[in-house]
Amino acid sequence: MFKKVLIANRGEIACRIIKAAKTLDIKTVVVYSTADENTLPTRLADEAICIGPPPVAQSYLQMDKILEVALQTGCDCIHPGYGLLSENAKFAEKVRENNLVFIGPSPEIIAAMGDKVAARKTMAEIGIPLLPGSDEIEHLEEAKKMAENIGFPVILKAASGGGGIGMAIINSQAELEQMWSSVRQRAQAYFGNPVIYVEKYLPNPRHIEVQILGDEHGHCLAIGERDCSIQRRHQKVIEEAPAPNLPQEVREQLFDLAERAGTSLGYVGAGTFEFLVDENYNLYFLEMNTRIQVEHPVTEEVTGWNLVAWQFQLAAGAALPTTRPISKGWAIEARLYAEDDKTCLPAPGKIETVIWPEIPGIRIETWIESGLKVTPYYDPLLAKIIAHGETRDEARLKLIQTLTNLEITGIKTNRNLLVAILTSQSFQSGKYNTQFLTEFLKSY
Ligand code: ADP
Repeated sequence: MFKKVLIANRGEIACRIIKAAKTLDIKTVVVYSTADENTLPTRLADEAICIGPPPVAQSYLQMDKILEVALQTGCDCIHPGYGLLSENAKFAEKVRENNLVFIGPSPEIIAAMGDKVAARKTMAEIGIPLLPGSDEIEHLEEAKKMAENIGFPVILKAASGGGGIGMAIINSQAELEQMWSSVRQRAQAYFGNPVIYVEKYLPNPRHIEVQILGDEHGHCLAIGERDCSIQRRHQKVIEEAPAPNLPQEVREQLFDLAERAGTSLGYVGAGTFEFLVDENYNLYFLEMNTRIQVEHPVTEEVTGWNLVAWQFQLAAGAALPTTRPISKGWAIEARLYAEDDKTCLPAPGKIETVIWPEIPGIRIETWIESGLKVTPYYDPLLAKIIAHGETRDEARLKLIQTLTNLEITGIKTNRNLLVAILTSQSFQSGKYNTQFLTEFLKSY
């Protein structure tokens, strides 16, 4: 097992990685920007090193500086968490060149899955179902022809996109003409790559994803599925495991597809295959994330598997069990954000007090404390609250109880919106899709 890990991340996921490392007796070094000075991860880690000013380009994305710290502090591996450098193939390559272990798959796999057009091609080759779509498109005329063939509505996406940024739903040739340049420009501005492609747009799908783990002995296991259809701006807000109202044979089909894809990639580590699922349970591969997901705890709660600890173990060469874990009960996660709950826009500020209620079956993954300044530089995620119960309703009610009794002052949060969603008829029935929150917000 590794002796010392450098955590190239911040916030709740840095705390989560520190906790997992402790269970394996791995020492921890965390890097931080001046905006994150004295935050919880910097105190929980064995060592904390400041690497620069608040903007990520000058701190959390400074690959060479991070590597230098890892080498100077005697680390033998680097955990990138999610976001930031976690899906940066160049960084994974540099880590390897410096004889350190990247806690994640190989740079080759990261690159192959990070380009969504290339990922679609790879998946098509191994027989994974896809939505009709194009290769990279350079010219508007080509896009128009493609959209005509596929049929409107279509969605324009950045090949290197992520975080729900830079997508546009297009209903007609006129809209395509109107949006073409701005989508390309946004792709260039956000992801340094103007390449975009066209995909059939499904009006009311569910977003269901499969967590996989792969070992270096050629074995890949589907650990469980999560329903992540409660989204705003194409980004998840509430997730649950198992997915409600999903026939067992469809679940099996999803697991088989994910295991087949993971095995043929020779995938090592934790990864997620995202699918869109339509009303008739047709399944379509959306993308693969080659890192730990924000919502991984719901899978941990129902399976009892520590996925972050598994990431370390798999990177150290461990073999997976031969059978999938058994899923018990129900888990629901709510993401508490520092944002206006009507506009869903970030609302940084200073937290005066935060007091978490103590409720059995509730797990809180957080980095916030009374007196913390939430700055505008990073994702405004404050905490993930995960409820586990024997039944879905037990988990749902416990989550509502925790959110309602949470004392948090000094800062705007989306708490009330989360409670409203969890109490809504649609959520209660478990019959919702990715359009739910957009519609819900219209009358909220
Ligand atoms: P990102 O990598 O930016 O998160 P994804 O491709 O994973 O982008 O898509 C994010 C969300 O956008 C999906 O969960 C879904 O709600 C919506 N979406 C993406 N592609 C489509 C599509 N072809 N049809 C309908 N919704 C889509």
